[in-house]
Amino acid sequence: MRIILLGAPGVGKGTQAAFLSKKAGLPQISTGDIFRHNLKNETPLGKLAKGYMDKGLLVPDEVTINIVQDRLMREDCKYGFILDGFPRTLSQSESLDKVLNEMGSALDCAINFDVADRVIMNRLAGRRVCPNCGKTFHIVYEPPREQGVCDACRTPLTQREDDREETVIKRLHSYHEQTEPLIEHYQRRNLLVNVDAAKPIDAVSAEIEMIIDKIRLSNKEKHLIHKPFDLTAG
Ligand code: AMP
Repeated sequence: MRIILLGAPGVGKGTQAAFLSKKAGLPQISTGDIFRHNLKNETPLGKLAKGYMDKGLLVPDEVTINIVQDRLMREDCKYGFILDGFPRTLSQSESLDKVLNEMGSALDCAINFDVADRVIMNRLAGRRVCPNCGKTFHIVYEPPREQGVCDACRTPLTQREDDREETVIKRLHSYHEQTEPLIEHYQRRNLLVNVDAAKPIDAVSAEIEMIIDKIRLSNKEKHLIHKPFDLTAG
């Protein structure tokens, strides 16, 4: 199954992608995580990405597209993937189609996480992350057991540089300008499913699970319809 998760920053794509990845046994490919990993390891890619991320801007298409192309060619993507945070521009979506075409496959679904900007501001301002294991918390909605400390590995929590208010405003601006047009793009192709991501995490997970079950069923039916009868079978 090949799924993309669309939505503004802070709508919960990462949380749901991780959940779905476990549930469906598919790799989660998050371009934001790839950039942050490179940043942490001070690679040339990380240094380049930092300049854009800190300003709330998108990393240039040619850089991002190459990374995703390489990642999708890996063996673990053979039976599908969950793309979290890619595509974010029309040009990225075109290049994704191209790669999938070359692989002889196609997208099954684009899940759009719908949340108002003021809710996003609130979520991102209170988000805290563990710099060691990557677990995320929210000071109000999902607080750690001990204030400011990761439940999983006891490391002091930090705020992502790009979760500061002035950067969030810029990220939202980039989202509306460059990414939002993808909603209509996938709607026209009959691939879009909207999810009310302002609901609690569990309710969103349940809704996504239902969407995935429906796709599975429809893929199975398509397979049965296209499979010729085996007249030699006893
Ligand atoms: P995220 O964690 O998905 O919100 O991504 C954090 C930052 O990484 C974004 O604000 C962008 O600067 C960069 N980034 C992530 N994914 C993309 C993408 N598909 N295209 C361009 N930049 C991206």
